[in-house]
Amino acid sequence: MKNNSLIVYKADRISNPENSGWLDNHAVVVSGSIIKDVLHISELPNDLSNKMEIYDLGKIFLLPGIIDAHCHMHCSATSNAQELAYNETDSQLIIRAVNNMRKCVLSGTTTVRDLGSKNNIAFPVKQMIDDNNIPGPDLILSGAPITITSGHCWIFGTEADSKDEVIKAVRRQIKFGAKVIKIMATGGMFTPTSNPRRTQYSVEILKEVVLEAKRFNIPVAAHTLSADGIENCVDAKVDHLIHARWYDKNPNKGIDFRKEIVKKMVDQNQWVDPTLGHQLLRKDVNVDPINSSAHDGQDKNMKSHWAIGKDVPMEEHIEKLLIMQNLGVRFTTGLDMGMAFGNHDKSVANAWSLVELLGWDNWKAIKASTSDTAEALGFGEKIGRIKKNFYANFAAFSKDPAKNIRNLSDASSVIKNGKPIKINNNVLI
Ligand SMILES: [Zn+2]
Repeated sequence: MKNNSLIVYKADRISNPENSGWLDNHAVVVSGSIIKDVLHISELPNDLSNKMEIYDLGKIFLLPGIIDAHCHMHCSATSNAQELAYNETDSQLIIRAVNNMRKCVLSGTTTVRDLGSKNNIAFPVKQMIDDNNIPGPDLILSGAPITITSGHCWIFGTEADSKDEVIKAVRRQIKFGAKVIKIMATGGMFTPTSNPRRTQYSVEILKEVVLEAKRFNIPVAAHTLSADGIENCVDAKVDHLIHARWYDKNPNKGIDFRKEIVKKMVDQNQWVDPTLGHQLLRKDVNVDPINSSAHDGQDKNMKSHWAIGKDVPMEEHIEKLLIMQNLGVRFTTGLDMGMAFGNHDKSVANAWSLVELLGWDNWKAIKASTSDTAEALGFGEKIGRIKKNFYANFAAFSKDPAKNIRNLSDASSVIKNGKPIKINNNVLI
């Protein structure tokens, strides 16, 4: 009798458990949602077809499902993302989020951390995905980001100004089901009523946020675009710094890089999401990354944020990211999906950018998009590797991404939690 709970996925090439090379002619045996074994084809029992369901994925390159640490599920990823977020009704935003999450998982991204979407959209969409009503990645949600009144992303955030209000906001997010707290430590390009060069919270308030989140064993991710913002986030020991740009608070100056703060960041094991994949996608469509920030929602025909003043070329930001990397900072792969040009099916652009903008080798970039970001999210022993006892999340690519990182593109097959949802370009859900 066939054991329906066992499925075998055969492939020409399977990523090894370290995500550093290929295993030839292997098969993954999956029980329910978990990998039971990874075997050479010759080690499989002869009468396999009588016992298990088999999918032969053929001449493809099988990786763990791609992991993205930075999404806004209901944003449009178009140059008018900001306008739409302000003007669309919740019903429109829900439809957009459902569509975005479907595209996302079908592209091969099987785990996504959403760092800021309206509470009444993010949590129900996750529930519908988890209950198998709609397709989508496994979601780790912050829900509404915490920001000051009129601050960055107030339109889908929770406005909280004082220490007491911020503590209450953290507790409210946890009550909704948040598994990460997102706080806006500086203003952002997306929000005209905020100032990206200025901090939004004192270090004392950020410390309260971290303390409160830690009571629930929940990490804190902070958006920060300015040098003062980074210093506050480092002093407050937030877990993840998002963007980590070094804008000087003076609009007549460029950036204010502080090496000693980077060293502290490394000592404290704080991760940085450089949001470079997003910048690469802008370059690919010939849009100048004028403000070098992910959150501008503008194209080349539009004016830069009023507060930016002296422009900073992307190359200068990249130079600082390279110094940070050389000092030992570790990077997560977060696309900032939903912001202009951060399409929900393009998380692979994170790996492209690490190779093309920071000079990483292809396997190192693949590892960043899988096991490294899994580790950063606190799931390093559960997802991000094709290894016994890990969740069976896979993405298959028809050309070798270890030879050319751009071969990491739309996945031809996707398996999520053991279930085939797309096989050889046939969508099954
Ligand atoms: Zn974002």
